[in-house]
Amino acid sequence: MSTGIKSGMIDTMSDLGKMSYGNFINGKWVKASSNETFTSLNPANLNLSLGTFASSNKKDVDTAIESAHNAFKSWRKTPAPVRAELILKAGYLLETRKEELAQIMVQEMGKVIKEARGDVQEAIDMAKYMAGEGRRLTGQTVPSELPNKFAMCVRSPMGVVGIITPWNFPVAIPSWKIFPALVAGNTVVIKPASDTPLCAIKFVEILAEAGLPDGVINLVTGSGSVVGNAIVDNPLVKAVSITGSTDIGSKVASRCGELMKKISCELGGKNAICVMDDADLELALEGALWGAFGTAGQRCTATSRIIVHEKIYQEFCHEFKAITASLSIGNGLDPDVAIGPVINRAQLESINRYVEIGKKEGAKLLYGGNILTQGDYQLGCFHEPTIFMDVNSKMRIAQEEIFGPVTAIMPVANFTQALEVANSTEFGLSLSMYTKNVNKAFAAIEELEAGIVYINAPTIGAEIQLPFGGIKKTGNGHREAGTTAIEQFTEWKTVYIDYSGRLQKAQIDSFESLDS
Ligand code: NAP
Repeated sequence: MSTGIKSGMIDTMSDLGKMSYGNFINGKWVKASSNETFTSLNPANLNLSLGTFASSNKKDVDTAIESAHNAFKSWRKTPAPVRAELILKAGYLLETRKEELAQIMVQEMGKVIKEARGDVQEAIDMAKYMAGEGRRLTGQTVPSELPNKFAMCVRSPMGVVGIITPWNFPVAIPSWKIFPALVAGNTVVIKPASDTPLCAIKFVEILAEAGLPDGVINLVTGSGSVVGNAIVDNPLVKAVSITGSTDIGSKVASRCGELMKKISCELGGKNAICVMDDADLELALEGALWGAFGTAGQRCTATSRIIVHEKIYQEFCHEFKAITASLSIGNGLDPDVAIGPVINRAQLESINRYVEIGKKEGAKLLYGGNILTQGDYQLGCFHEPTIFMDVNSKMRIAQEEIFGPVTAIMPVANFTQALEVANSTEFGLSLSMYTKNVNKAFAAIEELEAGIVYINAPTIGAEIQLPFGGIKKTGNGHREAGTTAIEQFTEWKTVYIDYSGRLQKAQIDSFESLDS
């Protein structure tokens, strides 16, 4: 069991920003072998640091993988219900430390406190759900075509699993991957996003406290190009699960393809709400506001397009502008704030570049469009919620993931055109239809090209007991969450047990000849 240092903190100092944190390898918190570090900054005030973190290299990664490989030998033999008990315990510990983690999350990546609590809650829900999976891990039994022969499939763990996560759900997403991987009997090396190492460290600290044996969970911080690549390339890593941008995910997937490794990717999105002329307009406006500007638009499922029937287009645009203007922007620790900062300066500038692109493309800027530079805003990374109208499918702002508080309203003439426009991007994560017409609702469910479809609800708001993931360039066919989460972390083993006492030949022997 994990003993010794129970916290990710190596040198205890008086305030959060002065603390220094290590990697978690074989049940111990250790410095990077190079002694090099990097800092994590508060996007609401870049003068505030969350601490310094291990800037790791291949050697650190290889040590972590070796430790996971050694731990796998006994972890895979531990009965799944026993593994699940430890995950359940982690879930209860997360519950007791929910507020602490949520407060750290707001400071490390900027989402508002209510959403940060929701992020931790998602991990709690996942722990409880996956703990139940420990008593299922279902296989299959099917009849054999031959007499006195039994046929079944069982699940086997894969071994060491490499997990690479983004910053926008810094506790929830690690939990979506780590809990199913562990319950299935794998051991884990996680590399969290460099913008949110502290959230991941606090999460792993809880897993260690729950009593996971040494080496079962390992964490290595550092850059994607060094740590991420080293995880993917190490031959002891049998499967990789990454959530991130389509650009990075496809590179990791290509490399895994060369190495013949199982790879599951959850990548970018360009999600849309369609609002038909028969929709409950108030409901649609409220949903679009939450979908577009929740988490400052930095959700893979964010509503970055709003496709509106021409009959209600002007009214929708007018009302949407008015409710957007009422949103307060600021530090997410303030419970009255609706929109926090975006993750970092580079992202802030990237978002604003898209605003300029939208203007040049001929879209009409209906609201916002600026980086906030007055007063305390200048200390952080704040962008006004921004609405473009009169956007068409050919424009880059309707095609590319902006990942910020920018949304594009697009007029359409009818239901069929709404579906065409909704499906007109290379992504396929989450699409939504607002209508009171049940026939249109079911037609939309059938026609919308996405892994997740909502009717009369925005594109965000997934629940952990259902599969989560996208099609087209959003994913590569895997699903997280739900019972499907187990698939990416297990191999099927097909077993035939012949108790006839003679050689029976499938496809060749006939039942009659064997029976005589
Ligand atoms: P990102 O830049 O692609 O990074 C994702 C992770 O990959 C980070 O840990 C990053 O490390 C690492 N990485 C970077 N280069 C790597 C490499 N060469 N090899 C291996 N790993 C590497 O994405 P992000 O900015 O963190 O997150 C935002 C993106 O995630 C958006 O596109 C969003 O849509 C997507 N997302 C998708 C889902 C989904 O379920 N579909 C959910 C959430 C987010 P560093 O941080 O050190 O660079």
